[in-house]
Amino acid sequence: MKPYEYSFVIKRGGENVEVFPVEFSCSLRAKSIKITPVLAKKVIKVSYPIYVLRSKAVAFLEAQKDWVAKQLQKIPEPVVIKDGAKITFLDKEYKISNIPNARRGVWFEDDYIFVSGDKEFLNRRVKDFLKSELKKYISTRVRYYAKKVGKDFGKISLKDTSSRWGSCASNGNLSFSWRLAFAPQFVVDYIVAHEVAHLVELNHSYKFWNVVRDIYAKDIDEPQKWLVRNATFLYSFD
Ligand SMILES: [Zn+2]
Repeated sequence: MKPYEYSFVIKRGGENVEVFPVEFSCSLRAKSIKITPVLAKKVIKVSYPIYVLRSKAVAFLEAQKDWVAKQLQKIPEPVVIKDGAKITFLDKEYKISNIPNARRGVWFEDDYIFVSGDKEFLNRRVKDFLKSELKKYISTRVRYYAKKVGKDFGKISLKDTSSRWGSCASNGNLSFSWRLAFAPQFVVDYIVAHEVAHLVELNHSYKFWNVVRDIYAKDIDEPQKWLVRNATFLYSFD
């Protein structure tokens, strides 16, 4: 694999640094050179119109260096899911604790998430556990809201999407970002209500929003604002 020609490095405490490679792309639709830090994917995208030379796009990026660095500084430090780390799942805080010789796998107990087995697999196992626990919770909420609108739904799945928190297909299948595992419960509920409302209206019309407000039964501005403010936070878990 060719190393990236350009990258941004931001310093974290001590020896820790994070590298954000730059991806250049030339597109028919682009009307000007545009720099977009895609925090979820940890890359910086630079798109430019076909009639612009790549060297010009590079020069543009050079000129905007400080601006990009400033954007990257806003990103919260990554929260590494490891032994001893604390995470909040559906409004309750847990400490992750590794018990290498336990036989049970991964489980909640009081304020802990206990994980058996080797430390090197802990990260993957905790993530899988959170995904399956989140899926259980989301499934109960889907049933609840779907009953309110009187609609059937298809399969429910969790994905690692970088662009959407949830989606609803025309066949009624619903999918959600597993990163909602780190969001407060009122936000998870909102996303579920939003996607279930799409079972009634597969658009974002006035009618659609009325369905969302009706079934969510709370102020929808709060969870929407929370998501805008905390998107990078949800993507900071590694
Ligand atoms: Zn929608």
